[in-house]
Amino acid sequence: MAGEPQAECLFCKIVAGEVPATVVRETETTVAFRDINPQAPTHVLVIPKVHYPDAASLAAAEPQVMADILCESGRVAADEKVDGTGYRVVFNTGAGAGQTVFHAHLHVLGGRGLNWPPG
Ligand code: IMP
Repeated sequence: MAGEPQAECLFCKIVAGEVPATVVRETETTVAFRDINPQAPTHVLVIPKVHYPDAASLAAAEPQVMADILCESGRVAADEKVDGTGYRVVFNTGAGAGQTVFHAHLHVLGGRGLNWPPG
């Protein structure tokens, strides 16, 4: 059922504490943890505790949780002290855009210069 934990989902397992992660922030609805393969000095993933496969399905079903994720990304940037120099938030959506984990997650990248357009 939409929103319910999925047994085979890596990020549901991180939410449940069954897979270790370096958690930097947690709220009632979200968890933020360091990406295991960082692409920048700051690379944190902000995820909903509920399971939706991508940003669009999460936003449609639970807009307040999507708002919580966006607010948390700003707090992560402030905690990491990248808010002054600039940082990027990204939802890869679909395999063609590089999504590899199908539990919605917002990348927060900063701490180096970031090119545009992204590859
Ligand atoms: P996507 O490619 O946008 O789906 O992003 C998935 C991200 O999850 C990638 O940047 C991976 O490096 C990251 N990742 C995969 N497994 C883990 C993990 O166990 N802990 C933290 N990050 C992970």
